[in-house]
Amino acid sequence: MLIAADEMLISRGVRLTPQRLVIAEYLLNTDCHPTAEQVFDAVANALPVQLSKATVYNTLNMLVEAGVIQEVYTEPGGCARYDANTMRHHHFVDTSTGRIYDIPFEQVPTLEKSLDGKYKVKNYTVTFYGDRAEDS
Ligand SMILES: [Zn+2]
Repeated sequence: MLIAADEMLISRGVRLTPQRLVIAEYLLNTDCHPTAEQVFDAVANALPVQLSKATVYNTLNMLVEAGVIQEVYTEPGGCARYDANTMRHHHFVDTSTGRIYDIPFEQVPTLEKSLDGKYKVKNYTVTFYGDRAEDS
């Protein structure tokens, strides 16, 4: 099912531009958790005008701030990936293909959040690494 990017952007108070629209449309309709570079490669030829990497980066930041997408980090020191699934969820990284899968939040037992009272945990996500069985 294709999600209408224009309605999504308007509902989040984002002013529509062709650049914002193609980037949001791409992200809302993929679950591959692309990096900014991958977003650029995917949409660079979708517009009649030239799209700069700076515009892609700025647009991604703006869409994160507007709550249209979220930033995801699956490797320490790795680059940000962008995820249109803004519901709270965890990730599974297939270490042989590098593909990232969404794991529903409820599928993981809730973790103890007090940590001996030393740390006040406001949020956490879990990233699993391993091999994923083929869909049957
Ligand atoms: Zn995700």
